[in-house]
Amino acid sequence: MTSVATAISLITRVEAERRSATGGVSTCGTDLAKGPWEFDAAEALRGLPAYGPGASSADIAPASTPRQGQLPQEYKDASDDELHARILAAKETLGERVVVLGHFYQRDEVVEHADFVGDSFQLANAALTRPDAEAIVFCGVHFMAETADILSRDDQAVILPNLAAGCSMADMADIDSVQQCWDQLEELFGTEPDVDGRVPIIPVTYMNSSAALKGFCGEHGGIVCTSSNAATVLEWAFERGQRVLFFPDQHLGRNTAKAMGVPLEQMPMWSSRKPWGGTDPETLRDSRVILWHGFCSVHRRFNVAQIEKARAEYPGVRVIVHPECPMEVVDAADEYGSTDHIRKAIAAATEPTVFAIGTEVNLVNRLAAEYPQHTIFCLDPVICPCSTMYRIHPGYLAWVLEGLVDGEIRNRIEVPAGVAETARVALERMLAARP
Ligand code: SF4
Repeated sequence: MTSVATAISLITRVEAERRSATGGVSTCGTDLAKGPWEFDAAEALRGLPAYGPGASSADIAPASTPRQGQLPQEYKDASDDELHARILAAKETLGERVVVLGHFYQRDEVVEHADFVGDSFQLANAALTRPDAEAIVFCGVHFMAETADILSRDDQAVILPNLAAGCSMADMADIDSVQQCWDQLEELFGTEPDVDGRVPIIPVTYMNSSAALKGFCGEHGGIVCTSSNAATVLEWAFERGQRVLFFPDQHLGRNTAKAMGVPLEQMPMWSSRKPWGGTDPETLRDSRVILWHGFCSVHRRFNVAQIEKARAEYPGVRVIVHPECPMEVVDAADEYGSTDHIRKAIAAATEPTVFAIGTEVNLVNRLAAEYPQHTIFCLDPVICPCSTMYRIHPGYLAWVLEGLVDGEIRNRIEVPAGVAETARVALERMLAARP
């Protein structure tokens, strides 16, 4: 199995060799073969943030998106082998003082250095098992590092190797827009509970959101969910509220609520900047779940035609997709679930099976390498990784680790104490709601 990074490099360097090296697979942008520092430099020059190459390249990054300063030249010039050796040496020197976390969607050259690999919440919890670590290096994206900071001790430094590693979905819901929406909904519904003691509306935020939004939920009787526990969390919310405001991912909200029997007509979508969010007071009064208009540009790439093609080519194929995929894709799949669900489903298959998977390509390729007895492929034939995960390159990992060796904390992520306090309340509600 060719790794994503190798395939991208082959595609870009020698077009003629591409077909034999990747079986005709193409990539969503030849820019992917460049070092992320080239985009960090370009953004600094233009003064405009962007998500860079990959699935989110067409999304509009908010002006407040953090920028990454220039990586020292020695890290840009270093070969892959040199960076690998420098990371190993720095980790060896630091020992138990550092823990490196690698998200499932991260590139192989970074994941190989991770002490723990998992989804965002698994990783934040994994960090808690290393209380002696002075530094937690989170090879994921910004909201994940924020969550790790909220859950870790004050004296532990959480580090994001590239500050430009945000999340375009998380950026689609900012605290000001959500507050404006909330003010309008409160004006419409009031705040009085019904005869069953249920308040008019409960805010629910997906883990993939800023600390400010998790804090908002903590402050307003709301809760956080992951893609693994979204149904449990919605049940929790329906016990306490007549309806839910779900942000930022419309697809996770819609797919989960639909599976729980909520009719689509009771799930209006709220688009900020439109009067009444682009809907109307009557629809909102009749709603059960008000969906924010966010989406993940990685999972939005999956479509029904890809599933039909997989079924035509591999009769009996088992199609599993992530709940951040659009509803029609989830409906056409055999099953859907979080990255953890996908991993467990493959691990549990006792007979050689063909799996077509609808989630990020780095994870799918790693699963294919891990389970050679099965045929496992990504439903999207175009190699198109998450733009912001792509920003974490071994050069940045070496730079932050060597900084720690020299006693310097680079790229620390710190959530303000007041926000962290209320965000923790929403996270604790989620943990208590676990079945
Ligand atoms: S895969 Fe989607 S939700 Fe995950 S970090 Fe990338 S853009 Fe955000």
